[in-house]
Amino acid sequence: MARRSKPRTSRVNGTVWPIRWQDPGTVKAEDGAEAAGVTDNEKYTICMDNGLHPDKEAAVLLHELTHQVLYLYGVQMPDDLEETVADAIGQGFFAHLRENADFWNYITNTARPRPRRARKPPHVPGNETHR
Ligand SMILES: [Zn+2]
Repeated sequence: MARRSKPRTSRVNGTVWPIRWQDPGTVKAEDGAEAAGVTDNEKYTICMDNGLHPDKEAAVLLHELTHQVLYLYGVQMPDDLEETVADAIGQGFFAHLRENADFWNYITNTARPRPRRARKPPHVPGNETHR
């Protein structure tokens, strides 16, 4: 399998948060405990451990994306409940993505903006035959 390039940003509705890839073991949660990933809603930043197994990394990225989306959509809940929700979404969506590639291709294709109609060229006086 081709080596994946790690995402450097997470964009949601035009809001772009940087993803910082840190040396293994150096990502810390608020309480100082080692973490696989941390989303900082005050600095609008996601920090990720650079040494995770690819499957774990993908699920953690989706977990952190869940935190970002909940924050950006104004959803608030107790921290322990939010962790449970982020785990479920992260692991559940990762499993779904792997098992339903066509589903996600469909979703991303329908979400793509429609191509714009070609604009009429500007009118050039004295060049009436040119279209
Ligand atoms: Zn979390």
